[in-house]
Amino acid sequence: MMEIVENVYVVKPYNPNEPGCCVYMVDTKSDDGLVLIDVGLYIDPIHVIEKEGFDLKDIKHCLITHGHIDHFGACHELKKYNADIKFYAHEKDADKIEQKMPISYLNQFFANYDYEPVKLARKFKVDNEILKLGQLDFKCFHIPGHTSGSVAYFLETGNTRLLFAGDLPGTAININDGNLDDYLKSMQKLTAVDIDILCEGHEYLIKPAERVKKFIKGYMKFNENLNHLVLENPYDTKILLDLTLVTCELEFFENALDFCNYLLELDPDNSSVSQLLNKIKEHNPPKIDYIKRLIKENFSKEK
Ligand SMILES: [Zn+2]
Repeated sequence: MMEIVENVYVVKPYNPNEPGCCVYMVDTKSDDGLVLIDVGLYIDPIHVIEKEGFDLKDIKHCLITHGHIDHFGACHELKKYNADIKFYAHEKDADKIEQKMPISYLNQFFANYDYEPVKLARKFKVDNEILKLGQLDFKCFHIPGHTSGSVAYFLETGNTRLLFAGDLPGTAININDGNLDDYLKSMQKLTAVDIDILCEGHEYLIKPAERVKKFIKGYMKFNENLNHLVLENPYDTKILLDLTLVTCELEFFENALDFCNYLLELDPDNSSVSQLLNKIKEHNPPKIDYIKRLIKENFSKEK
């Protein structure tokens, strides 16, 4: 388990072979015990905290970023260790967590998984609501778009401003209750916040502050382009090229490779696209090197 800053940990990092989201933990050093931000799809990865001397029964609060099963699916399993654990989410995603819903509505990628609903101790209603745990103030930004009740939790500890943001880049295309216009507004709002470390739900940690802003703006562009292709014109080569370039900037070279190949199918004689394809290929195999670099950059004090 890795400590991001004092008392803030990555419990479950990004792992392409393990489904579910990244899970983070804050030790409040108070009667409020341990706070989890999201819990993921199943409980097994959470046991890693025991190796560091923490106890699962001390997890007293779980802040849910949004109502997708890969983020809250294991909540009911946490109750086995502490029946009094308190769960929190935005009221607009509350039904998905408190009631049994079809998995396809909660994230179609996890149709083979199941969950038990849990009751929320508090449902956030207004933007910037503060949840005080121990001496720590978790500020809840309502960032609708990915889902109508998506929340990002802002925490300032020591000199570091952290944002736990769930599925910040996740498809904002109008699936279920996702909404692109809301997403763009929410992201625009976040670019005005100074965030030193973005603790993201599937992309791991993004830092420093300038890179966080670039990352968010990149995903705004990405989702705008993707939305246009999916809903308006799948053969628009200009938009597809823009999307490929944004994907390269975000260092998702595998996706960029796919987009580029598709672009060449549509427009085989485009020499600038062939050149771009060669550039992207230089980064292969991309993801593993990217992850290695992220780990090296972000963690000097791996435990
Ligand atoms: Zn999601």
